[in-house]
Amino acid sequence: MSETPAQLIAWIPELIYQANGFADGMALVCDGSDSIVRLVHVDQLTDERRINLRRRAILPGMINAHSHAFQRVIRGRTEYRTANQRDSFWTWRELMYSAATRLTPEDVYDASRMAFLEMALNGITAVGEFHYLHHAPDGTPYDDPNLLAKEVVRAARDVGLRIALLRVAYARSGFNTDPNPRQARFIESDAELYLKSVQALAASVGNPTVREGAGDDAGDEKSAGTLAHARVSDTSWVGIAPHSVRAVPLDYLKSVAAYANEHDLKVHMHVAEQPAEVSACVEEYGRTPVALLQSEGLLSERFTAVHAIHVTPKAIASFAGTRAMVCACPTTERNLGDGVVPADEYLKHGVSICLGTDSHAQIDLFEDARELEYHLRLQKLERVVVSGGASGGGDDSGTFPDGRVSALATRLFDCATVNGARSIGAAAGTLAPGTPADFFTIDLDDPAVAGAAAHDLLPAIVFSSSRAAIREVVVGGKPIVSEGQHLMQEDVIERFNELQKRLWA
Ligand SMILES: [Zn+2]
Repeated sequence: MSETPAQLIAWIPELIYQANGFADGMALVCDGSDSIVRLVHVDQLTDERRINLRRRAILPGMINAHSHAFQRVIRGRTEYRTANQRDSFWTWRELMYSAATRLTPEDVYDASRMAFLEMALNGITAVGEFHYLHHAPDGTPYDDPNLLAKEVVRAARDVGLRIALLRVAYARSGFNTDPNPRQARFIESDAELYLKSVQALAASVGNPTVREGAGDDAGDEKSAGTLAHARVSDTSWVGIAPHSVRAVPLDYLKSVAAYANEHDLKVHMHVAEQPAEVSACVEEYGRTPVALLQSEGLLSERFTAVHAIHVTPKAIASFAGTRAMVCACPTTERNLGDGVVPADEYLKHGVSICLGTDSHAQIDLFEDARELEYHLRLQKLERVVVSGGASGGGDDSGTFPDGRVSALATRLFDCATVNGARSIGAAAGTLAPGTPADFFTIDLDDPAVAGAAAHDLLPAIVFSSSRAAIREVVVGGKPIVSEGQHLMQEDVIERFNELQKRLWA
């Protein structure tokens, strides 16, 4: 074979999203190693292979920063009253556990594949999977302590999504709380054991610098690299996820955080989702969860607090001062009655917010983006609440020639893209040269967005579009969704239907 470089590919849509608006007449040029090489005017193209996308806009792939993929199996199955006087997050959790305790490794794969397929169809190209199913249903460790984590990674790879496997540390039911047998699959009671599994997993799926001491499970040799951000070509990598201050006692938490610091790993943690979690922390430590994390030096720019709903102004300042991020999951938070993320306060103080579909009651990151704003409108009886002020991420100062500003839509879209990428360490979230060719298209003639001009298009997409408008999804230069259909769609759905029949018969 000759040494001629692989031919460049030019994707030529009608509009391409840039930091604060859409440009026309441009082509997105990608190389054979799956990266974006440049954005050029169509007139400047030479011998690139051209792919014309008529009546399409290209946008950067979205990043789902918080997912529990297996929870897809309980969709629609928790929407009824239990025997309790008052249903809540805690009664929902028992229903969720009843499913979590019954899944085999193959079931975890099939459920995850279903969740990831739906994400792909929704324009999501990378996911942060907060993974806490580790053992057999009775709590016995599998021979490979990462068996289930690997099934989830395999599901993401087969669907074509990039995945940050945020391996969860879970030590106990809670402060002064009896063990709950339904949590037996999650528990790794000491930090050393947990970290050994993290090392082994990192060696097998990615994270080249987490190899020392990884033992026999060390996978392919890879060149050393920085972990805080995956390399462009990485399809999977590992992060640290102490479940919550409820589930991980302070000493354990400190060991895990020290390891994350040493290896430059992302750290995700559920924080202040429910008032009861905050009061239990005050009872145990005399401090709120965020105050505890702050005083113990556990907040950093690699830290993402998932939910962070029930917080004080001081907590918001702590996140701002340490550049820690918040991951809001509004569709789940409204489903569970968790409360409203004070996104306006976070953004005012420069705290970056990313988004997650969490329990998968619905998988639609645009819905999460708009709910971030809409929940505050209902609360404050105002409109356009999270626009303006200091930006937590991305530049939202874009104005258009006619004076109209889409700062709100830009800010919400940043949450779904650049902020999510920073949170999970994906080298994605924009269409900049040197980043992976991860993007999706919107049909400009879809009824939800028809008639929008270039400067109105982003707000039309963010506030009004649905999955039907998303037609192509490309990850690493490879199309995984075409004309609104995933290449493996039939098989994934068939297997999932069978699983659901077995689980709920
Ligand atoms: Zn969660």
